[in-house]
Amino acid sequence: MLAEGQRAEATIDLAALRGNLAALRERVVSADLMAVVKADAYGHGALPCALEALAAGVGWLGVATPEEALALRAAGIAPEQARILCWLWTPGGPWAQALRAGVDISVSGQWALDELLAAVRVTGVPARVHLKADTGLGRNGAQPHDWPDLVDAALRAQAAGLLTVVGLWSHFAAADEPGHPSIQAQQDAFATALAYAERAGVRPEVRHLANSPATLLLPGAHYDLVRTGLAMYGLSPVPQVGAPADFGLRPVMSLRARLALVKQVPGGHGVSYGHHYVTAGETTLGLVPIGYADGVPRHASGTAPVQIAGKWRTVAGRVAMDQFVVDLGGDTPPVGEEVLLFGNGERGEPTAEDWGRACGTISYEIVTRIGARVPRRYL
Ligand code: PLP
Repeated sequence: MLAEGQRAEATIDLAALRGNLAALRERVVSADLMAVVKADAYGHGALPCALEALAAGVGWLGVATPEEALALRAAGIAPEQARILCWLWTPGGPWAQALRAGVDISVSGQWALDELLAAVRVTGVPARVHLKADTGLGRNGAQPHDWPDLVDAALRAQAAGLLTVVGLWSHFAAADEPGHPSIQAQQDAFATALAYAERAGVRPEVRHLANSPATLLLPGAHYDLVRTGLAMYGLSPVPQVGAPADFGLRPVMSLRARLALVKQVPGGHGVSYGHHYVTAGETTLGLVPIGYADGVPRHASGTAPVQIAGKWRTVAGRVAMDQFVVDLGGDTPPVGEEVLLFGNGERGEPTAEDWGRACGTISYEIVTRIGARVPRRYL
């Protein structure tokens, strides 16, 4: 329930997060788990989720930017407690601070290696490097023709005591589309990249390739470490294969707001900007005080479901910056009634997956974009 006077809130069920980690641990027999807590833990709150994962015995945290890694260290997560890998290289990034904070750093090319080595010389702190191969995603990572040079350069720096190559890794393009031809091709390319590096003398602590869909569907891709984001938050990365419960997962985030106004209007009444919804007859409208400034997608206009007093209603007309309207069909629930936008579905409410489908996107985006103006309450 929302606290008295509260407009909206996201509840974060940390017990569900713990349960999800346990379910993933059961599935991943021979590899370690990395809790991916980038982007404020997909909107769930990076620090509380990281602490929960560490308390559950997870030893690795994954983030995109060095700033995200530094924030976790500044919040008290010490190097002895957790390895943190950041994988998004930014030229001119705070690499010296990241080294001093004991952050593992991904390197995809010579330009990054050169900049990192400059930071190592300034700080006197050797780097812990994960060399990333582009096995087909076409995003970060060294192309196959650049991989040998990158590996050889890293090994020279390692021999000079400037770094240790602790990881060899890559990332899938379409592990969420079972049967996609890139899946096998990427696994083959990864095996080739590993074989070169290992022949050249790299002795990695961890080789890692799998994200959530690969963790759930491709045990052969688990290697030493799996990087799980979405599944840890209890959402299915492969809704066409199975719902969260089919994988032993429970959604962690619920989003609710409080009905701010209920009023009667005649038929033919335009609703919200542009009048894209017009009442079919006399009805009641409810105002939900949460909008796209809070991360409710404008694409939810006219499509996304909410639950009010046990009934599903659809967003009527356009989502505005701070509010949207639902047609209550003549019902008059009291002002202050709870509006469940999405939750774990156990009360019959819509899920983030329903919202993703209604908005033409994926549940990843729905939860990640819930903004800072919405307070989080941790259960
Ligand atoms: N690894 C990398 C490099 C990523 O960018 C991400 C997220 O996008 C993940 C792992 C986690 O993906 P998922 O949420 O599907 O587990």
